[in-house]
Amino acid sequence: MVDYHIHLENGPLTVEWIRKFWDQAQARGISEIGITEHCHKFREWAPVFHHLQEGPNSYSYMREWLARDFQSSLSDYVRVLQEARESGIPIKIGIEADFFPEKETQIHDLLTAYPFDFVLGSVHTIGMWGFDYDPDCGWEGRDIDQAYHDYYAILAQAASSGLFDTLSHFDVIKVFGHRAVESMEADVDAVLKAARGSGVCIEVSTAGLRKPAKEMYPAEWILSRAAERQIPITFASDAHRPEEVGQDWEKAIILARRCGYREYRVFAARESYAQKIPK
Ligand SMILES: [Zn+2]
Ligand SMILES: [Zn+2]
Repeated sequence: MVDYHIHLENGPLTVEWIRKFWDQAQARGISEIGITEHCHKFREWAPVFHHLQEGPNSYSYMREWLARDFQSSLSDYVRVLQEARESGIPIKIGIEADFFPEKETQIHDLLTAYPFDFVLGSVHTIGMWGFDYDPDCGWEGRDIDQAYHDYYAILAQAASSGLFDTLSHFDVIKVFGHRAVESMEADVDAVLKAARGSGVCIEVSTAGLRKPAKEMYPAEWILSRAAERQIPITFASDAHRPEEVGQDWEKAIILARRCGYREYRVFAARESYAQKIPK
């Protein structure tokens, strides 16, 4: 079993810190970890986020949040992960990249310049609005159905972009428990169709269980539709601390199997390989 969505941001960029995540992985029976730091930790990505910091209608909480980011360098990050691998930790070098529809060329150039094993593609913003930053940031008075429609429209573009190996937290728009009233079936199907066309995987992520949504990403009805369309999956905790690595992975396996999956994907040098899902 693997965990392919892990953040190091709450500690130093050192092999010792990575080893704490690996120790927890082993304790839970996980045999490989994929480290996927947020792209906005790295100064090389600052131009991609520029519109959120300076543009018209930018939100003050986004400006303040991003002002603290872009501190590390991608080359240091890749080097420390390679050192961790050389020290014997079975680790894959990943990154969680934000998708902005108008920045595809910039994102492509950043993702192909480093030796990543896999790249997660994430939508955390709708226009200038960072919808998963905080429940008090921008949700008040929002048309929730419209937020869902807008989110899935951007996710469909991310799915068809060909930039990513896996789409993160498919229905993260539910993170704070806001639920759409209208059916989202057509919206979700459009994303799955785009994913089918590009070959991108989706995550079965336990992170939603730790959030007010109190539900896996994606919800079972979405994962069942993805299984019908033979969209490949990976497994993820979105751990931000060592103790979260591999959290609830047994539940993720039960859900995946119930939806009809028997295989998941692992990555090396941006090629994927099928593995049997344990019983
Ligand atoms: Zn994310
Ligand atoms: Zn993440």
